[in-house]
Amino acid sequence: MKLPIYLDYHATTPVDPEVFRAMTPYFTEIFGNASSRNHEFGWTAESAVAQGREQVAQLIGASEREIIFTSGATESDNLALIGIAEMYQERGNHLITSSIEHKAILDTCAYLEKKDFTVTYLQPDQTGQISAEAVAAAITPRTILVSIMAANNEVGTINPIAAIGKVCKERGVLFHTDAVQAAGRIPLSVEAMGIDLLSLSAHKIYGPKGIGALYVRRRNPRVRLAPMIHGGGHERGMRSGTLNVPGIVGFGKAAELALRNFETENKGIALLRDRLWNGIREQLDEVYLNGHPTERVSGNLNVSFAYVEGESLMMGMKELAVSSGSACTSASLEPSYVLKNMGVGDDLAHTSIRFGLGRFTTAEEIDFAIKKVVATVRRLRDLSPLYEMAKEGIDLKSIQWTGH
Ligand SMILES: *Cc1c(COP(=O)(O)O)cnc(C)c1O
Repeated sequence: MKLPIYLDYHATTPVDPEVFRAMTPYFTEIFGNASSRNHEFGWTAESAVAQGREQVAQLIGASEREIIFTSGATESDNLALIGIAEMYQERGNHLITSSIEHKAILDTCAYLEKKDFTVTYLQPDQTGQISAEAVAAAITPRTILVSIMAANNEVGTINPIAAIGKVCKERGVLFHTDAVQAAGRIPLSVEAMGIDLLSLSAHKIYGPKGIGALYVRRRNPRVRLAPMIHGGGHERGMRSGTLNVPGIVGFGKAAELALRNFETENKGIALLRDRLWNGIREQLDEVYLNGHPTERVSGNLNVSFAYVEGESLMMGMKELAVSSGSACTSASLEPSYVLKNMGVGDDLAHTSIRFGLGRFTTAEEIDFAIKKVVATVRRLRDLSPLYEMAKEGIDLKSIQWTGH
């Protein structure tokens, strides 16, 4: 077993060796530009792109002509929101999303708000879910787009996407979903789920970084999109720029692998995830699961360890590569906006750790992680006067703090 142990699969995944092998020739021998229509080099690259497009389309039950390649899901999310907002402006200026979307959605919405669009941010329930009823209630005659993520990147909660898609169809509103964390982890079908636009990223499914896709529905209804990048008219004019051929080949192979081992892989990862959770909660008190107990993607475990500050916990177990619920972006340690909007109090939000398991996680690594987490939490709690007082039955809320 090699240290440190990677348990941050929501942030990125390693490229699968099979994906890497498929990509390699496209850097050197098969280097053509897929838009060179006049020679063999171009044709070979073009047919590799066609295959990648087909494989990515299959992952979500789409047709290959509905896949637009981008530089990643951040661009896909931007293109979906801004492209629709611009194109359907005369129909309305209202968008609906949730308060716990990825920043690629939230920051794009903030940008649109500066451009005279209005955005409704739905609040999730305590498990991190957005209900179809909440979406229905927020739709107005001016609504042009609903964007709700398929699965959350912090707590792993899966949204009722098919029900939300149905509401949007009934009300004649376009539906976009950021499916980056859902892809390869739950079955996705743009038809069955009534999805009009869907964002994907290769590096979250064992493909390379810097390549993503936006699915754009072509019929029932035909969705139109204003481009953000101009020049050359690639990708049916919606996203110009020379195609990243090796990236697309790798993305395609990654999508194929995700489908090939779908059930066994996700079952195995969920078993390891449950083993980690059980190991932790059997040995520690006052640990709380964040997110939905069952409607959760296979590799996600987000836990609050009361009385232990998340950043300190991470620093105390450097052998584990995990993420904490606090983003130490600036001088202040802000608790995660996702947990906050789910109603997790600041005290518990500050103590949260996100474990992300994936394809290459082993039982040996999980057993090591359990030992490490339990020992570190115990050590930090032994140093914590608050934990000691709580154990002695003192109600911490009754304490009169001085010095403020
Ligand atoms: C990682 C991630 C993104 C951004 O994808 P990139 O390809 O890294 O730009 C968007 N949404 C979610 C939910 C993600 O997890």
